[in-house]
Amino acid sequence: MTISCHINEARRLQALRKLNLLDTPPSEAFDRITRMAARFFNLPIAAVSLTDSDRQWFKSRVGVEHTTIPRMKAPCGEVADSRDALVIPDLLADAHYCDSPLAAGGIRYYAGAPLVTQDGHCLGALCVLGETPRATTAEELGSLQDLAGMVMAQIEMLHAMGRVDPVSGLPNRTQFIEDFDDMQKDRPSGEWRLAILINLATPEQLAHAARAMDSVYLDELVNDAAAWIGDEIGARKVYHVATTQFALLAEPGVTLDACLQVIEAKIAGAIAAIKTSFVATPAVGVAPFEVGKADCLSVLRRAQSAVHDAIDASVHVAVYSAHEDRLYRRRFTLLGDFALALASGDQLRLVYQPRIDITSGLCVGAEALLRWNHPSLGAIGPAEFIPFIERSRLAQATTAWVLETALDQQLAWRAAGVALQLSLNVSAANLLESDLAGRVSEALDRRGLPRDCLELEITESAIMEQPAKAHATLEAIAASGVHLAVDDFGTGYSSLSYLQRMPADVVKIDQSFIRELESDPRQQGLVKAMISLSQDLGHRVVAEGVENEAVLTFLREAGCDEAQGYWFARPLETEVFTAWYVGRIVAQAQQLALNMAAMPVAPVTPALP
Ligand code: C2E
Ligand code: MG
Ligand code: MG
Repeated sequence: MTISCHINEARRLQALRKLNLLDTPPSEAFDRITRMAARFFNLPIAAVSLTDSDRQWFKSRVGVEHTTIPRMKAPCGEVADSRDALVIPDLLADAHYCDSPLAAGGIRYYAGAPLVTQDGHCLGALCVLGETPRATTAEELGSLQDLAGMVMAQIEMLHAMGRVDPVSGLPNRTQFIEDFDDMQKDRPSGEWRLAILINLATPEQLAHAARAMDSVYLDELVNDAAAWIGDEIGARKVYHVATTQFALLAEPGVTLDACLQVIEAKIAGAIAAIKTSFVATPAVGVAPFEVGKADCLSVLRRAQSAVHDAIDASVHVAVYSAHEDRLYRRRFTLLGDFALALASGDQLRLVYQPRIDITSGLCVGAEALLRWNHPSLGAIGPAEFIPFIERSRLAQATTAWVLETALDQQLAWRAAGVALQLSLNVSAANLLESDLAGRVSEALDRRGLPRDCLELEITESAIMEQPAKAHATLEAIAASGVHLAVDDFGTGYSSLSYLQRMPADVVKIDQSFIRELESDPRQQGLVKAMISLSQDLGHRVVAEGVENEAVLTFLREAGCDEAQGYWFARPLETEVFTAWYVGRIVAQAQQLALNMAAMPVAPVTPALP
């Protein structure tokens, strides 16, 4: 065999395998044609025989038991090689086939018509066989070729059915993957290409549309977009890879800059063209990849990641960023791992940061802060994991874990004579639980703890997510006797009307206002105003992030009630906190004793009888 024959045979086999027909069960659609062929020739045997590398495999057969015969000396193999119809009036009289397995099995007559794909690959033959030698009329041969054409129409229809999107009529994701792999074989290795993913609407927009409109609306959106993309880019190159997503590859040689310019220019046109655009914000992700080394699914995933970066940044187009992708994938992994951490019993713990009454210098409370020791990644700070845990279904379970653990600790401290108020952070999702107040009270009651030994910290933004529901929950918590604090005050909406209505005992001024307070007069004015405003509305004020004495002095003079920050202590492990607390009490008692010893002793007046 010559090299070009080898290549052709390899491509032929590839075309055959792509159709996924080999070794599939029989199907009536094919059997019907095979029966017609046998009947037309008035012969006992007919088959749709596909030529694999070393065998003829029968997708459909009449009059034969077996599903496969060796390719060696099988006439259908010759049809596949030549792509021509073949008639052998008498196998025993044929120099090549007289000693073939078919002849040995008693077959004398063969007629086969080639099964040729639209791309010109011959998959095998539709054949009829007889046990006696026989002549063939031109009409018979013509009919056999027509029937072979019907077999091919059936094969290609089945193939297309799984590869064309029924709404847009564009090739789908399966076809994209297949064509992508073909392209990698065709194009020179090492060439850089760009995969482009066009996303028609954000997940929220889709959810709104699905809720408000029937599915025809989305179909129209998709069809408008498909028509526009088809006109602009050429439908043959565009793939409909997900309900509202289209993918294509930029032409070889197109640079990233050029590609971005074209997309930016065209997207404005796209928005105008999509009739239903008032709910749709198209976003485009571009993923560069190296031909020969790329994996199609991973290229699509990268383009998807870029689409989300574009949506997050409110821009029309974004290029895949390995950094953003790594962050996202880390978040995704952490989210899965956190569920295990909650169940593990040894990955999570609470640390406690003291809260100090500024006037007396006494430690009056502590904030419980969550810590996670990941089994392979080590310590992960709450600033990294809390934001996405709060937005997941794990928010409730996390707060439940924190509540139970902190109250166990509170019980232990109370038993040892340490009477502190403990503060816990709760998320927006917790405020939507209708029974939060009930569950918190129940956890306290179960341990015989007073309600006012607990404070729940809630950020302004958490309340503002669903103000009505949040307020109902907060009212119920306040009514139960558990204290409430507004956390990170000043960073959110800081709406005065909400602060006035908020049943909070405490306002915690965010550390971003406090940390560099001593050097910024404008900040000082702001903090003074926050303190007096909050106090006028009946709240105690806590300053977070106090890191030095100058700041503490300023806060004392401004009338702030309490302070929390590294100046006093960082968040401490339980035992360290206890030792710190005892040490502080001892030091304060000693100071008190010294102060008292230094006091002038008043003359004792004798008691009157
Ligand atoms: P937060 O509730 O505002 O807690 C205060 C944060 O400021 C803590 O960070 C604390 O370590 C830090 N901090 C305290 N004093 C200072 C200071 O003087 N200087 C500086 N630079 N930082 C100080 P942490 O522990 O990393 O917690 C970060 C955030 O994570 C918390 O902010 C809170 O929003 C959230 N978080 C922590 N634990 C939990 C939890 O159990 N549940 C929920 N929902 N959120 C939590
Ligand atoms: Mg807090
Ligand atoms: Mg805070």
